[in-house]
Amino acid sequence: MSLDQYRKIAEPGEIRAIERLAYRLKGRSFIHVNATSVGGGVAELLHRMLPLIRESGIDIQWKVMKGSKPFFDMTKNLHNSLQGKGKTITKKMWELYEETNSRNAKRLNLEGDCVFIHDPQPAGLIESKKGGVWIWRCHIDISTPDLVPWYFLKSYIERYNASVFSVSTFAQSIPIHQFMVPPSIDPLSEKNIDLDDEYVNGVLEKLSIPRDKPILLQVSRFDPWKDQVGVIEAYRMVKKYRDCRLILAGGTAADDPEGKVVLEEVREAAGDDPDIHILLLPPSSDREINALQRAADIVIQKSIREGFGLVVAEALWKGKPVIGSAVGGIPLQIVDGINGFLVHSIEGTAYRIRQLLHNPTLGWVMGGVGREHIRKNFLITRHIRDYLAMWIAMENSRQKVIYI
Ligand code: UDP
Repeated sequence: MSLDQYRKIAEPGEIRAIERLAYRLKGRSFIHVNATSVGGGVAELLHRMLPLIRESGIDIQWKVMKGSKPFFDMTKNLHNSLQGKGKTITKKMWELYEETNSRNAKRLNLEGDCVFIHDPQPAGLIESKKGGVWIWRCHIDISTPDLVPWYFLKSYIERYNASVFSVSTFAQSIPIHQFMVPPSIDPLSEKNIDLDDEYVNGVLEKLSIPRDKPILLQVSRFDPWKDQVGVIEAYRMVKKYRDCRLILAGGTAADDPEGKVVLEEVREAAGDDPDIHILLLPPSSDREINALQRAADIVIQKSIREGFGLVVAEALWKGKPVIGSAVGGIPLQIVDGINGFLVHSIEGTAYRIRQLLHNPTLGWVMGGVGREHIRKNFLITRHIRDYLAMWIAMENSRQKVIYI
């Protein structure tokens, strides 16, 4: 992909803004560090964003930390603890965290003009800071952490020049600059690229889903927080009055026993209703998800707890009205009553589904507004612009330059 390909898709002036910001940073070095090069939203985003930043003349490097299995078990637990549901982290485990970070600090050359550290695993690399602007990018919700692990981590975070959170309510009080930069979707990725009707029909045919009645869709991992059973209950309430189909598409990792339990519960709740389609998708199903989102009349995201909820942005980008719970990053994306509806219960979800089925024109108008909302606020180009602007702002603040 090249930046130029986004010129016609992004907001007018967006690429020009990136070029202007990049011009000020030409030849400077921008280092990103995270814990994995494959799998997960962070790696996927870095794979897509970094080549575009490099193309704009900045020397970009992506470095991945290495660690043993006990280290990654510990950081998985730390991740859960920061989200308020971890197990005890012992002194020995913290020593392993420190050792692993200090070994990686020696292995990776982190001398750059701007060093961006993603998530808690490599946060301890700050020990090796010699110069430049160091920014900690937090991708998770740490608003209600287990306090002991948080205070431990905080002793590192306070030494960064700035921190970045995806949603303001995910943040913590820390005595450094804080920025809010929501994640983004890439309109040119397999998951979001335009597809023609023929392709969409082909995918539905392959999945044995007739297009004879309105389609309700939720795409999400089979996970207790995504509340697929609640979606089935809402569908049942609607079904008494209007005929429709429900697709629940998602995946569960082979090593996720909780996912299997949820999938069983969902299957049980669906019973033998031929209009409920439970699809277990393999990890590389981006085009299929894209097609399902395009085939849907209404997209639902009835999570009980949510991170940012990228599926909402994906559906809005495809011009679909979205009914989503008012949790996590969903209220940033759904402007209630304008491009979809925010809901708080199963009954509320059913009520809004009926309203949209009854008035397809409303759904069509909402979808159009939704696509514009995503174009302005949640595309990868806005994300790049934010990162560059933040870097410049931090350098200015260090030099005490004030632009009026
Ligand atoms: N997704 C996927 N396969 C699935 C379920 C979801 O590829 O079986 C994708 C979905 O399209 C979205 C991402 O995974 O891009 C989920 O991100 P989101 O922020 O909505 O939720 P999370 O799973 O991170 O809690």
